[in-house]
Amino acid sequence: MKQIPMKISGYLLPLAVVGGAAFLVVPSSTEAYTTIGGNLGISQRDFRVFNNFTDPEANNNTTPDANFPGAQGVAMALWKANLEWASRLHGDGNGDPSQPANLGSGGANFDPSWQGLATDVGDINSNIVSQISGSSGGVLAYCETPIADGWRMRFYQDAATWSDGPNTPTNQYDIQGVACHEFGHALGLGHSTVGGATMFASAANPAVTERSITADDIAGVQFIYGVAAATKPIITSVVQSGCSITINGSNFAATGNEVWFTRVSPNTTGEPIRVTSLTSTGSQIVVTAPTTAGPGDLLVKIPGAANSTISNPWPVNPQSATAPQSYCSSSPNSVDPFGAIMGWAGSTIRSNNNFTLTTTSVPPNAACLYYFGPNQAFTAFGNGFRCVGSPVTRFPVMNASPFGDASYALNFNSGAASTIPANSTRNFQLWYRNPAGGGAGFNLSDGLSVVFCP
Ligand SMILES: [Zn+2]
Repeated sequence: MKQIPMKISGYLLPLAVVGGAAFLVVPSSTEAYTTIGGNLGISQRDFRVFNNFTDPEANNNTTPDANFPGAQGVAMALWKANLEWASRLHGDGNGDPSQPANLGSGGANFDPSWQGLATDVGDINSNIVSQISGSSGGVLAYCETPIADGWRMRFYQDAATWSDGPNTPTNQYDIQGVACHEFGHALGLGHSTVGGATMFASAANPAVTERSITADDIAGVQFIYGVAAATKPIITSVVQSGCSITINGSNFAATGNEVWFTRVSPNTTGEPIRVTSLTSTGSQIVVTAPTTAGPGDLLVKIPGAANSTISNPWPVNPQSATAPQSYCSSSPNSVDPFGAIMGWAGSTIRSNNNFTLTTTSVPPNAACLYYFGPNQAFTAFGNGFRCVGSPVTRFPVMNASPFGDASYALNFNSGAASTIPANSTRNFQLWYRNPAGGGAGFNLSDGLSVVFCP
């Protein structure tokens, strides 16, 4: 047994400490990696980021990446850092050209669940990464242990100029590289004596090479969690169509599968959104994402308590296939040269019964009504355009607010909205009186096309 040093002299990465006993345990005389005791059970696979990083360089990567939907800056860097420890490639593995083997190199019964942004730094078991003010000698960052009931990771604000990459200058420190090391502590590894290993106790700036775990690091994660089992569920592709997400892969259970989604950010709990009791063919699961599921990863969990019952994470933007779409065109009215514009609020999942049509830049107090139908149109009508083709159904006449806003909450349990079936598309538009606008004395908003899921 040897104690983890509080800090490393000179340059670099230091290490875990704090909170409780932080001791290294050498698993065998022939291995170079070490472990700190404990592992992250299947209830501790979530991780989040509280983005209080203050260096502009920590959040200047604003280029979206389909492999990391919804994340930019430090959030994307940290997501990549943790993914590197996953059992197999994350999606197509792309997203970090600095890594020859791409992202997802662990090959163990360990896979993380990205849960987006947190609202605070959390406690020492919240599995949240954040910045902490000040510095501590040569320590760059640390991970609070013991890990079995969760962990917390902090980056010292004054220890370095923190960069989210993807190209971190040599006078800065790479958040992803340092975090990949710290995530190693979070999953149970101590420091390695192998130079060049991600878990080596120190790292020279910019610490980009630490993004990619080495053979010794892989041996370490496989020692703690076991080599990825032959029975482990595997996701090989995800296809979105309308309301359905089809997950293709292998080793899914006939019944009792769960699909874990990333929660909409920010969120106060790291718990994945779970859709339960799903059947499969063994190689395919079809699921409808809850509206509380945000852009992130999905994982398949088969029945059982073993670490090998969780699949690899796969990137998905659950609502992207069903987000309402504006179409057609609005026309100038007496209050706005761009005319009245449709919007929406709530959920497109019909069973939630929580979907509201909204419109802005309507003449104040104007008499108006929403109408809808399955077909689109784009023909001159009144002072504007008719965007919904026949047949159409009208909601009741009402009045815009004194501020020129209109809204109408659909009730799928009675009245006109109850005729809208699940898995259908409906097109909506606001008709409104506008005598002050001259001409025909009435006008219309643009159109809004909505897919309603079950
Ligand atoms: Zn360390």
